[in-house]
Amino acid sequence: MAAVYSQPAAANYYTPPTHPSMKQRGYRICDQCGAVEQPPVKFRLCGGCMTTQYCSQDCQKVHWASHKAICQHTSSAKQQVIGSGAVDEGLIKGLRKFTSAHSALLGWAGFQALQLKRLPSNVRQNALLVELSYRPSSSDPLRRFSVKGTHIVPRTYITDNDPLVADDIMRREERCRKTGGIGTAVILIQCGEISQVMPVEVDSPNRISWDTRDDWACVLSNFVESGRTDFKPISTTTRGIIYG
Ligand SMILES: [Zn+2]
Ligand SMILES: [Zn+2]
Repeated sequence: MAAVYSQPAAANYYTPPTHPSMKQRGYRICDQCGAVEQPPVKFRLCGGCMTTQYCSQDCQKVHWASHKAICQHTSSAKQQVIGSGAVDEGLIKGLRKFTSAHSALLGWAGFQALQLKRLPSNVRQNALLVELSYRPSSSDPLRRFSVKGTHIVPRTYITDNDPLVADDIMRREERCRKTGGIGTAVILIQCGEISQVMPVEVDSPNRISWDTRDDWACVLSNFVESGRTDFKPISTTTRGIIYG
């Protein structure tokens, strides 16, 4: 069930949604069986890489053999950074939490930044890089980050220097296209020396109803700055404005 509003808006920044959300058009799925996460059910994150997610412990177990390499690669990259003494572990944990709390917003921003409604093939060409700055002093963990800048970068910027990540993205890409999606949008969240790749599988163009917004960077900044995690994308349809 979707709420219908009479006034268009960039997103729900000024009008918080009061209804359960519809299925996201860019969504995260169980890495093993492909089940879509449906709120309020939360999938389990892999404790090693804190990136892949599963609908159940069974799926996580089955997936381990093929996931092990990329998982250990991701965790060891984290360890190296910690070992260098340059970064505190709080930042790394904070960044994982940030990405998970803002996943709907980040997915939507990637979709807008790459103009996937108009240029679906862009999903394979480019990626969105979100540069964050960190304020460890804030008492609210969700307000420790702010958006320093956003950049569209060639996707090879992320895949060229990391073959394991490239393989993982290709695998998601193939799976997504088999089920009629356009591919995997890649969002790189970076804060100092720490970065996190967020792959978002995107539906086919005819199922995407999100409005095209040129002010996505501003919307992204506003939500992050205020620590709000209730972002809902909007779609203008013949039935009115739909949030979700
Ligand atoms: Zn599963
Ligand atoms: Zn893992």
